Amino acid sequence: MKIVDIIPYVIAQDLEKPFYFSQWDYKARKICLVKIILEDGTYGWGEGYGPADMIETGINFLKPFVIGENVLENEKIWQNMYLRTLDFGRSGIFNAAISAIDVGIWDCKGKVLNQPVSVLLGGVKNEIIHPYATGFYFTDSPTLDEDLRKEAQFYKKEGFKAAKMKVGLGLEKDLHYVHLLKEELGDDVRLMIDSNHAYNYREALELCQKLEHLNIGWFEEPVHPEDYNGYAKLRENTSIPIAGGECEYLKHGFKRLFDADAVDIAQPDLCATGGLTEMKRIATLASSYHKDIVPHSWGTWIAISAAVHFVSNLDQNPGRMFRNAPMIELDRTENPLRDDVVSHAIKVENGEIKVPQLPGLGIDVNQNYLEKYAINNRRETAAVWS
Ligand SMILES: [Mg+2]
Repeated sequence: MKIVDIIPYVIAQDLEKPFYFSQWDYKARKICLVKIILEDGTYGWGEGYGPADMIETGINFLKPFVIGENVLENEKIWQNMYLRTLDFGRSGIFNAAISAIDVGIWDCKGKVLNQPVSVLLGGVKNEIIHPYATGFYFTDSPTLDEDLRKEAQFYKKEGFKAAKMKVGLGLEKDLHYVHLLKEELGDDVRLMIDSNHAYNYREALELCQKLEHLNIGWFEEPVHPEDYNGYAKLRENTSIPIAGGECEYLKHGFKRLFDADAVDIAQPDLCATGGLTEMKRIATLASSYHKDIVPHSWGTWIAISAAVHFVSNLDQNPGRMFRNAPMIELDRTENPLRDDVVSHAIKVENGEIKVPQLPGLGIDVNQNYLEKYAINNRRETAAVWS
């Protein structure tokens, strides 16, 4: 079944309530989606993670090397795209463009073969998945403390078993907000922290030492993504599990992370690190290093659905009768692009997700909303990047 067209869409929308984290603020969300169209009219959707306009350019560059190929031969297509970009993009935007196309190809494959992506990946080894809520971003609201408490109550009511907050504002502020949320969430909802590589080793260690007694689920991106030694030293010197990898690309990036023994939990984003095709390889690599995977996700329900199918297929490593369900990240911040544009088959009930049984990723794009939000040079927005 031949691929006859590839159409990238850059969608953007300003936010009602801007928010910030350790690195910058978000005033808008902006995402690059891609539609893969087959000769019989069947289509699939993919998504890239990162600066949307750049990913669109990457997709347009790759397009001539993919059109005319058989959509069922995803590894062959992936290799073509990889070899065409290797000399200029061993990590980064080209990988995100490859990822977007690859995810769309898997959605198409599922529709052509009338099977969910989880089955095509090799089958559902994990029927139940626990999403954790990503939120607790900061605003300039004078009632921020109270706002964060209300957000924590909402996640508890929704049944989430875990939630992640941002740190990286400096030791004093971090301790204030972590204690506040830990108090509000109690022991029933696990709390993870994420500094988005805001600290050096000594600063990260000091924060760990002051938080170890709170049973923190993990500390994500504590130090600079290139500071593999810092990661490894921190892991040695704290009881808090260390997570990272959303800035790594392809299996080669994760091999560096694992060789350094830098993390307990690897967090590849399948919309940036090579798509589902490369994620299968990263999963095998992680399994051989005995590392857990909890994918990073910061996009629409295309990205979230792809992560659900991927996680459902992850190996039990080690296996045992009574074990925790694997997790996926569920961004709960304001994002009209996520909530309006993509219809999906994922239900979060009692803090659990069951793997969708529809063909492909089990998603579709609402054409009206796509046209409303698509910019591709048609509409000005304050958007910086997704
Ligand atoms: Mg993160």
